[in-house]
Amino acid sequence: MTKSSAMPEQHEINLHPLGVIHTPYRQKFAIPRQPNLVDAALGEIVFDKEFSDPNMLRGIEQFSHLWLLFQFHKTVEQGWSPMVRPPRLGGNKKQGVLATRSTFRPNGIGMSVVKYDSIQHKNGRLSLLVKGVDLLDGTPIIDIKPYVPWADSIPGATGGFADEPPSTMPVYFETQCANQLKHWQNLYPQLTALIKQVLAQDPRPAYKAKQDSDEEYGMSLFDLNIRWRVNQRANYVTSIIHNAQRKDC
Ligand code: SAH
Repeated sequence: MTKSSAMPEQHEINLHPLGVIHTPYRQKFAIPRQPNLVDAALGEIVFDKEFSDPNMLRGIEQFSHLWLLFQFHKTVEQGWSPMVRPPRLGGNKKQGVLATRSTFRPNGIGMSVVKYDSIQHKNGRLSLLVKGVDLLDGTPIIDIKPYVPWADSIPGATGGFADEPPSTMPVYFETQCANQLKHWQNLYPQLTALIKQVLAQDPRPAYKAKQDSDEEYGMSLFDLNIRWRVNQRANYVTSIIHNAQRKDC
């Protein structure tokens, strides 16, 4: 039987994620917009039982960086639009979705280059540790491939509206949160670097970043609620408390 060219075949693809990644990012707000902007963000990919054969990872330690392909599982059900407003354009100019790295895309697939860290194999469960992630905690990982510098890095490539890395802001800790930081740092050794690198990216929505207000912002990293204010293009961390201690939640 010949197929009609007027009736394109619809393909359904069933994917079985390899497992999920655990990261410090418990909410979408404040996750950096691309990987490696925050190298203190450690991710642990925990493989499902059927993908827990360590042979699958044999030789991977020879690569400094890896590609992660994943599903934007928190936004995939909201569907997609042909045009989106990238934050890099101030959130008010539209681009074609395929000309952006927006999460609201057909099939909701994301890709990030991250730094290889180590492999763990405990109690029959295999995990792969990586650094510099921009993924939400619990994101399903569809595939992992080595980053191949000669093929994947293109000198002289142009980056359209996102040609330069985003500018960063200094981060200071107010004296009243010094003890809180010391306390939580014991539990999360990368905490100070993580807070500094995340806030340096200025996670505020584009329209807020244009205003100079005394508003206090809050974000979740691990189980912690971190609050800060912005003054004259600098961030001041005001408190670091456990989420369970928050009165307003
Ligand atoms: N490097 C990826 C991601 C770019 S978009 C790519 O280019 O495909 C980055 C944003 O994805 C982050 O700011 C975060 O808010 C969002 N994100 C990360 N993990 C997600 C998930 N599991 N579901 C929905 N959104 C997610």
